[in-house]
Parts: sequence; structure tokens; C-alpha cells
Amino acid sequence: MSPANAKLNAFPVFLRVDGEAVAIVGNGEGALAKARLLAQSSAALRIIADDADPELLNFIATAGAVHVDAAYDAAQLEGAAMVFAASGDEALDRRVAEDARRLGIPVNAVDRPELCDFFTPALVNRAPVAIAIGTEGAGPVLAQLLRVRIDRMLSPSLGRLAALAASFRAAAERLPKGNRRRRFWSDFFAGAPAKAVEAGEFARAHDAALDLLASNELTAGHIALVGAGPGAEDLLTLRAHRLLMEADAIVYDALVPEAIVAMGRRDAERLPVGKRKGCHSKSQEEINALLIELGRAGKRVVRLKSGDPLVFGRAGEEMAALRGAGIAYEVVPGVTAAFAAAADFELPLTLRGVTSSMVFTTGHDLKGNSLPDWAKLAISGATVAVYMGRSVAAEVAGRLIEAGLSPDTAVAVVENASLGNRRRFHGTLADLPSLEARADLTGPVMTIIGDAVAGANFERSEPLATHKREDTGHQDTGREDTGHEEAADSTVAEGVRQ
Ligand code: SAH
Repeated sequence: MSPANAKLNAFPVFLRVDGEAVAIVGNGEGALAKARLLAQSSAALRIIADDADPELLNFIATAGAVHVDAAYDAAQLEGAAMVFAASGDEALDRRVAEDARRLGIPVNAVDRPELCDFFTPALVNRAPVAIAIGTEGAGPVLAQLLRVRIDRMLSPSLGRLAALAASFRAAAERLPKGNRRRRFWSDFFAGAPAKAVEAGEFARAHDAALDLLASNELTAGHIALVGAGPGAEDLLTLRAHRLLMEADAIVYDALVPEAIVAMGRRDAERLPVGKRKGCHSKSQEEINALLIELGRAGKRVVRLKSGDPLVFGRAGEEMAALRGAGIAYEVVPGVTAAFAAAADFELPLTLRGVTSSMVFTTGHDLKGNSLPDWAKLAISGATVAVYMGRSVAAEVAGRLIEAGLSPDTAVAVVENASLGNRRRFHGTLADLPSLEARADLTGPVMTIIGDAVAGANFERSEPLATHKREDTGHQDTGREDTGHEEAADSTVAEGVRQ
């Protein structure tokens, strides 16, 4: 590792040399090496060499360099953009360096760093792309090793691709600045044009670039409804991660941790839409309108929802709105809270010979007179995962017992499933109402009910029964009785507010 504060003593720049004279003084190997290096550019080489080596003469002839076949004289340097003192004779090189400096021309003296205004790099040339490697005092062997290594990393057709890109610069400038233009270039260098160049099909590459230009002139945006998982960053899917890295805008709910939002592209717009730290949440209509607006602006949007987007996530409403507006979307699944909670409890959600079905519910539909279908499933042995169930715990337990489920049925509760600060509780259906009075549960809470819960590992959980329910009545979240989705919203907020 280089020291954190290490500074470069020579700063790399690219000097414009096209058609400019570059003077090289010397008649042997040193001069030839520099001439070969410079011949990779479109500079006009002026080689000042009397009594030149046959190899150098040969090079001069094939490269079309100007040969000044005379003893060295300062006047021969005039008008050059760069001078190389490569005679191998210290006194002469020093003279050349002094003359160049007097004429205001930057000079390089071969193997005499003390006489140099600049150094030449080891060069990986994929014109118009150039990678220059400088190693200062570490020497030419290191520079050459790096050159070979970097050369191997780069496609031989990189230069062709860059040249094609250069020919599309002006056309791409017509695309609106920002997302659209950036997307054109990223698809150009990673998509069909690049692949065609790689295959040596240059006409096809050109056509593919034209197509890309046309499609970017037209494209509307794209919305990905993405499951962020239960909270732990490493439970995000690779696809979710890739979309986050490509996003122009990230629209996220309150339960999505900042750490996951922060995994998005650095200059992506970040738009919280859930209740968090006292900020107002947007209504579902406002969120739908925001997604449509971003889509119409041609943005790549990641709509991040906790857990899985299709489980109590109101994705149905958002998809309907996007379909209505003709905006493309996709859904990326995530690890839903029930699965994270089950994992935290080593709890088999299906258990051979015990239960073979499972129910995802909120419990918010237990208020009417008739039992919802899922309650009947619970009675017939299904494992029940209750989302947003803390504030209706007593209602859920009471109604299920009333309907015939044994009060001894096992119950597992996890707050902040998958996260470092998770807390686990176990007990029976009879203990479940105590959950409502627990003001210490400030994170999201998942309740799992059923005989399969008996197969869980209770070594790291506390008994629920130690917290008897105080008769506080239901916590009023204000919107609880307005149905599933509305309740979903209020209880999501509940998870972070209390
Ligand atoms: N789409 C989400 C659910 C959103 S509803 C999913 O698939 O998980 C919000 C409810 O999910 C919370 O009230 C809570 O019951 C549950 N939840 C979300 N994250 C949780 C977590 N880390 N631990 C426990 N429950 C969680």
C-alpha cells in the first residue's frame, strides 16, 4: 500500500502532438527506442542524427520521419513541441537539454532524470484510448510488467469501439443531458454496439448504435418494484442490488433501512415516501402519481418495499396505476418478514405430518361477525404468519380461541427479524394478547401461530407470558379498521413511531 498521503512527483497529462514536430537527438539505440514510442502518435518526427545506425536509418525511412543528417546544433530544435536528448553522451545530452529549455521546449533526456522536464510512460495503446503508466523511481521493469498486465485486461477491439463512440458523440449530444444520455453511453459500451465490435462486425456495430440512439430518443422510464427483504442488507437479492446500482431514483418505504437505500447509485435521487422520524408519509395516490411522473421523465426507478413487494405492500395498486399510464415495470421478489422470522426461530413453516399449508394475514379482518377463511385454515392446522399484528394481538387470539383453536397452540413472535437487534418471544395463543401492551416493542413485529411453531428453537427467546396484558384496550392507530391495505400502512408506521 502506498502511504495515504503519498503525492506524485510527476503528474500525467496528454500532450497534443498531432502534426507537431518532435525532435529526437541521437544516432543509436536510445534514439530509436524513443522514435518508436513517439511513432505511435501522429507527431511529425524530426530525428537529428549524423552517422546514424543502420537500424535507425531504416526506421526513419519506413516511418517517414524527417532526418537531419548533420552534427547537432540548437537551431535544429526550433519549433518542436518536445525534445528528446537520446545521444547517450552525457555532455551532449546536457547541452541539448539546456538548449531546449532556453527555447522554452519541454525536454526528456534518456536515462538522465535530473535533466528531464517530463518522463515518458509505459504505454498501452488502443488509439484513441491510451493508458499511460508511470512508476517514477520504481523503474522500467515494474512499468513494463504493469503494461503487459493491463494490456491483457483490455479487449483488442477497444480502440475500434472508442473510435465508433467518437463518431457518435455529436449525435448523442442531441439526447437530453442526464439520464437519457448516460443510459445511451452505458448501453453503447456494454450492449449491442460493443458486442458487435468485439465480434469484428463494424457495420453491424454502427447500426446497433443508431438503433440505440433512436430508442433512447423515445424511451420512457422503467419502474422496478423491488423487495428489500426484512432489513438485513445481505438478504437483498443480487438482482435488487444491480437495479439499485443502476437506479436514477429510489422511492422507499419507512421500513426499508437507510443502509439498503445507501447501496443505490451514488447520485440516484432518494425519495422517502413512508412515515419516518416525524416526516409525513405520502398517500398511496401521491405515491402512484410520483412513480408515473418519474416514469414519464424517463427515469429508471427502484420502488423499494420491505420484505416482498407483493406481500402487504400495496404493489397491486401501484402496478395498476403504472399499467394505466403505460409505464413499463417489473417485480423483483424479496425475503418476506415471515420467512426471516421463521429463520430466526429455526421454525419449520411446514412440518411433515403436522402442517402442510401456511397463511399470510394481517389479522385486521377479524373484526366482523363472520370468521375469515384463513381462521378456518388455522383451525385445520395451517401455520399462520400475522403481519402488522401487534395492535390486534388480542383480537386475533380471542377470535381464534372462540372459533375452536386450542389456547395452547404455540406462538412465536419476532421483533426486527433478521436484524442484529432482533428479539424473540414464545408462548401460546393464550399469551398472545400481552403483545398489545408492550410499548418496548418499537420495531416491526411478526407473529407466527400454529402447531409447527412447537418445532422451533426456543433457546434464544423469552417467554411471552411474563408480560401479562394490562387492560389498555386496543392501541388506536386511527386507521386500523379501514381494511387490509390501509391497516398495512398504519401499522408499518407504527413499527417505527412507537
Ligand atoms: N412486504 C412486507 C410486509 C409489509 S407490512 C414483507 O413482505 O415482509 C409490514 C409488516 O411486516 C410489519 O408490521 C411486520 O409485521 C412485518 N415486518 C416487516 N419487517 C419485519 C421484520 N424485520 N421483523 C418482523 N416483522 C417485520
